[in-house]
Amino acid sequence: MHQKNTVILGTGGTIAGQSVSASDNIGYTAAQVGAAELIAAIPALATSSHLLVEQLAQIDSKDMTFAVWVNLAERVRYFLSRDDVCGIVITHGTDTLEETAYFLQAVLNPVKPVVLTCAMRPATSLVPDGVQNIMDALTVARHTNARGVVAVCAGVVHSALDVQKVHTYQLNAFSSGDCGPVAYVEENALRTLRDWPSQHQLRTLSATDSIAVLAKALSDETWPSVEIVMSYAGANGMLVGALCKADVQGIVVAATGNGTIHQELEAALLKARSQGIEVVRASRCVNGRVLPKLGEFLTDSNGLSPVKARVELMLRLMLLPSAVQA
Ligand code: ASP
Repeated sequence: MHQKNTVILGTGGTIAGQSVSASDNIGYTAAQVGAAELIAAIPALATSSHLLVEQLAQIDSKDMTFAVWVNLAERVRYFLSRDDVCGIVITHGTDTLEETAYFLQAVLNPVKPVVLTCAMRPATSLVPDGVQNIMDALTVARHTNARGVVAVCAGVVHSALDVQKVHTYQLNAFSSGDCGPVAYVEENALRTLRDWPSQHQLRTLSATDSIAVLAKALSDETWPSVEIVMSYAGANGMLVGALCKADVQGIVVAATGNGTIHQELEAALLKARSQGIEVVRASRCVNGRVLPKLGEFLTDSNGLSPVKARVELMLRLMLLPSAVQA
């Protein structure tokens, strides 16, 4: 059978980082090495004729922008539509990888695999982790059972809905929380740990809505303004008051525990909501989900972390014609 192509889209990150000394794994500059150069340095891939490599951006993912997301969504959609392409790998920084993964899953809900991969050490490291991560991501992108947006790091495959960066330094920096990973990659083979989430389970927006949101995202330079505030000891309504004055359209609150919010902050959030600002409650706990109780007034994030709940709220606000400001 004719082997299909796999696409690698480079966006930067530590995986493309360089430091002055090979023994320095933290004092590096992210996003310095091009994706083509990274691939050319991997002997097993250097001469592969079934890889299409494109540099989409070259940024530290802490500085991710909506413009990069839009560009990424457009190119991913284009390559997915090609019959000769079986899957896509995106090299990305670890810092906002989960947000990009969630965004792409929400707007594209792809049948073919879209695999984000990354590294915790720069490309110049004495023992870099990016090479193995790229090899593992390619294994997933070429696997017939793989589908949807996933993240691959340290041999672990996480679904876009569950993945979260949970470690600042270790190579295995991601977790899927309560759901657990989808699979492991072991010596170029996939060991599946649970049913691969179906397209239906991964759908966060209806098919019509995701098409509408993508069209809106591609055409509007200004996205709905949604910010995150956190509840903590001594929290008050000051930041929420400032956000209301700044005309935000939505606020996600990273609540304590099972969605609890400091009473002063909660009062400010309820006031904001009464002024027409959408308010969503997520938990700042890494595991678990908010279990809503009777008599609670604020919508919960349906298990999404605060940063993913923010992406979700921005996308939903895009569906409202009046939500995006000129
Ligand atoms: N700051 C880097 C980034 O997100 C961190 C990394 O890639 O590990 O691009």
